[in-house]
Amino acid sequence: MRTTRQREAILRVVRSADSHPTADAVYDAVRKEIPGISLGTVYRNLKLLAEAGEVMAMENAGCSSRFDGCTEVHHHFRCEVCGRVFDVADMLGSDIDRVVEAQTGFEVRGHCLEFRGVCASCGEVSGRE
Ligand SMILES: [Zn+2]
Ligand SMILES: [Zn+2]
Repeated sequence: MRTTRQREAILRVVRSADSHPTADAVYDAVRKEIPGISLGTVYRNLKLLAEAGEVMAMENAGCSSRFDGCTEVHHHFRCEVCGRVFDVADMLGSDIDRVVEAQTGFEVRGHCLEFRGVCASCGEVSGRE
């Protein structure tokens, strides 16, 4: 496939980033390796990788589209000051899915939560004021 090298580079960037990069950030990083790559190619490959389950597209409300190299069930904490997104381990398990199913009659396939607040390093900065 023509785009294999590009797709591998994109996958590597998303997996090695712990910052849940946006498509634009992935583009900037991949461009260092493959200068000729276009933003459209990056978007297209991110979509394909997400469909293949290689990365996770984060589509929380209010979250500009970010990508996650970790495809295990986990949640996120978003710092309202610096905008960074941190991983939070899942502590609810699948019980909550069953609760929601019982409540709605829907088939629940998973859940994701986004916590918001101030991260440790931003908290330190404001604490010094
Ligand atoms: Zn922060
Ligand atoms: Zn994550």
